[in-house]
Amino acid sequence: MEQRIERIKKQLHSQSYKLTPQREATVRVLLEHEEDHLSAEDVYLLVKEKSPEIGLATVYRTLELLTELKVVDKINFGDGVSRYDLRQEGATHFHHHLVCIECGSVDEIQEDLLGEVEKTVEKRWEFKIKDHRLTFHGICKQCNQKENETEEKV
Ligand SMILES: [Zn+2]
Ligand SMILES: [Zn+2]
Ligand SMILES: [Zn+2]
Repeated sequence: MEQRIERIKKQLHSQSYKLTPQREATVRVLLEHEEDHLSAEDVYLLVKEKSPEIGLATVYRTLELLTELKVVDKINFGDGVSRYDLRQEGATHFHHHLVCIECGSVDEIQEDLLGEVEKTVEKRWEFKIKDHRLTFHGICKQCNQKENETEEKV
């Protein structure tokens, strides 16, 4: 945790930004809830628990700055809410998501798996790929199992 904060601090410094206490409080919440895909509101409520003096506008600005610096990625799962997702260190491309249409759970795939697709697109469309967003919508393992169980009973 401290090491990652230190690296994010350096990343900010390299772009001439400071990791102020308000910014650090926001970064800590993101690190503590790395897999939660929090909205700005969620982040704000969690920041407020520890630092009640920090306002929503400050949290918003920090999240925008972190997005700009590519520390986090902004993502939308189709419910109209922007969520903030920490970028995996050293990853050049954004990770993929599995969104369950039954229970709303969100899983992550850290492996890129798109090597061949990217090569084809770059060649055929002469398009240099810098990043991508890939969200699979479907039914998660747990929901699948539940469905199978009820089917067996019928
Ligand atoms: Zn994610
Ligand atoms: Zn990729
Ligand atoms: Zn599910």
